[in-house]
Amino acid sequence: EYKLELRGVCKSFPGVKALDNVQLSLRPGTVHALMGENGAGKSTLMKCLFGIYKMDAGEIILDGEKVEINNPDEAMKKGIAMVHQELQPVPARSVAENMYLGRFPTKCGPLKVIDHKKMYEDTAKWLKEVKMDFDPKAQLGSLSIGQMQSVEIAKAVSQQAKVIIFDEPTSSLSDNEVEALFRIMNDLRDKGVAMVYISHKMDEIKRIADDITVMRDGTYVGTWPAAEMTTDQIITKMVGRELTNVYP
Ligand code: ADP
Ligand code: MG
Ligand code: MG
Repeated sequence: EYKLELRGVCKSFPGVKALDNVQLSLRPGTVHALMGENGAGKSTLMKCLFGIYKMDAGEIILDGEKVEINNPDEAMKKGIAMVHQELQPVPARSVAENMYLGRFPTKCGPLKVIDHKKMYEDTAKWLKEVKMDFDPKAQLGSLSIGQMQSVEIAKAVSQQAKVIIFDEPTSSLSDNEVEALFRIMNDLRDKGVAMVYISHKMDEIKRIADDITVMRDGTYVGTWPAAEMTTDQIITKMVGRELTNVYP
């Protein structure tokens, strides 16, 4: 059983302590909502996990063993993927080329010819696994944001990601695209993938999350089963005071 834990994570930027002794524990086959007000440190925590930022202190424990993750490549090799809109795939290239990007870094020397037929077949297969059936030859830049996210998810799945981080994935999705994303996430849950889901949208959290961790001002507040928390209780944890004071 693949379990991932973050312990005692600290990260400062000049003038701001973004993370102070934060912890997170992910179970396989669950969606873990990471919640907190803007600036609470959610993205920073995930960027530390994914190797985009170097943490000042703290540990990443994978299946009971301490591991080092110094960059996104190493994160991917350990089965961790991140789906976010800041990722810069190559919009002028096809879906298939984007799926192949960075996949075979050592085998693909300058003289190595890519088997295009296989590339398109592989891509169609991977897209099907996340129940997407658009054309692998389509230019990535011609797709909607939701479809581009599906490509990122399909890529993560094809690389056998065991943990997928979604940082505010629905912020620019249509209602239909949100439904499609949730279908994919439910499917991934059944396959045993552990997911981190960052969102401010309480209705989405109530629908999709199994566990909830709340952060506030760079600190860890707590973790609860999602089913045991009302919306008001979650918001109270996020802001750190009774709701009546926030919305008089
Ligand atoms: P959240 O994702 O919860 O909205 P962030 O992790 O983006 O919060 O930010 C946490 C804190 O760290 C904020 O005060 C933010 O301004 C600061 N911060 C985040 N990234 C950087 C950075 N690259 N350089 C300086 N400060 C940063
Ligand atoms: Mg933010
Ligand atoms: Mg953020």
